Amino acid sequence: MEKIAQIEQQNPEPAYHSFYPASYKDPKSGSAQSSINGSTEKESRLNQDDISSATSDLKRPEYMYLPCHYFDFMAGTSTGGLIAMMLGRLRMTVGHCIEEYISLGGKVFGKPRRLNARSNPFSNRGKYDCDNVEKVVEKVTGLYNPSIQTELWDKVPLKSPEKLCKTMVVATNEDGRKPYIFRSYDIGNPPKSKRHHNPGPAHEYFLSTIAKATSAAPGYFDPLLLHGITFLDGGLVANNPTVEAYNEVSWQQGNKAPALVLSIGTGEKEKRTLKTLEKHMKHWKHFISYEINYRIAESQSADDDMTDERDDGKVQYERLTVTLDFGLGWMKLDEWKRRPQATKPVDASRDTQGRYMRQSEYFRQKKSKHHDTVRFLEARTKLYLNQQSVQKQLERLAGFLVKRRRLRSKTPLWNHFATGDKWRCPKNDHCPGSPFDTWEGLLAHFAKSHSHSRIPDARDCVRRY
Ligand SMILES: [Zn+2]
Repeated sequence: MEKIAQIEQQNPEPAYHSFYPASYKDPKSGSAQSSINGSTEKESRLNQDDISSATSDLKRPEYMYLPCHYFDFMAGTSTGGLIAMMLGRLRMTVGHCIEEYISLGGKVFGKPRRLNARSNPFSNRGKYDCDNVEKVVEKVTGLYNPSIQTELWDKVPLKSPEKLCKTMVVATNEDGRKPYIFRSYDIGNPPKSKRHHNPGPAHEYFLSTIAKATSAAPGYFDPLLLHGITFLDGGLVANNPTVEAYNEVSWQQGNKAPALVLSIGTGEKEKRTLKTLEKHMKHWKHFISYEINYRIAESQSADDDMTDERDDGKVQYERLTVTLDFGLGWMKLDEWKRRPQATKPVDASRDTQGRYMRQSEYFRQKKSKHHDTVRFLEARTKLYLNQQSVQKQLERLAGFLVKRRRLRSKTPLWNHFATGDKWRCPKNDHCPGSPFDTWEGLLAHFAKSHSHSRIPDARDCVRRY
């Protein structure tokens, strides 16, 4: 978002937020929420008409430029699924997403159950309580609910208005062989092909339910039973769902590839040797197949497939993921040591082969109370991003994305795409077509159906979807 902000602000017609030329809209649910459940949560809230009152923190690029204004489609599995729902469906800023994600990590991974399947081979309880996932996600959806149409404020369905950024979340059913795709949009029957999964109407399940399904990693969380289907973490079959997302978008566009595919990984992993796997098998008898699948479902193969598509000239494909040299490779799935009071900077020295110390070694050798998983991840990710080649890649990406957003912001649909708002006919809520996606649509309707009336004031017609 930093690079995007630079380019947006250097333009002859500078944009200090990504809603431009529409006006800035509070990313939190704002007064509507307060009036519904009586909450007075108004801290650090931006007034839509008065950005100048914002604290300097909220003026940082990660709060002013929203990913859902630059991307049409977001997809993710497990942890990535949660992020896709936050950025795509809840239309959050990257800054808010990071804040909520850290709080979520502490509330879920900071509280393992004492007797669980990973500590005791006779237990089949997940290590963590999936009800915690539900509660935390409901808190987030309550704060950032973009809609006024749900009765319960903290329950947001995945299904979203069709012209807005789309979201897809991957899980798998119990046999763990095929991806199951949760969608915010309808998709018709594609030609019979193994590349497409469970087509149908958009899912109306709440985000908190889908969060439990996509993150149900065996041993860590209990599987989720939903209308007779048992769901498990999509990481078992599509650890990296880029190919699935690519197929979805291409299918929707009549077999036309998307203009850009950006894949963001959680860091390169070291491959396990067969010996370690065998040891693992003896140890965790009842998770054998899951564990093996889990570790072998290498994100790498999806990356290879996409690279082939790019090399064939079919798509512009970019991938960002912290490479092995930066020492995140052996990170545990549920690694969570949180000591926000830690003050020492993360050591950035390298060994003779130019590698940074692995996270596990680092935490052992440096022993002390100064270790904090989030800070460690952040420090190493920054080192990766600061490399010259990655900086060039980011600049190229930002340039492309800003150009697309600017082109789109000149179209009548922009206000709806940027804010989610629609225009309702002030004469009668039940007029055909109302609410309209564009102001022009409402004006045309007015000329046709209410030609004797005065043209309405725009402020009387805006409504949140
Ligand atoms: Zn009307």
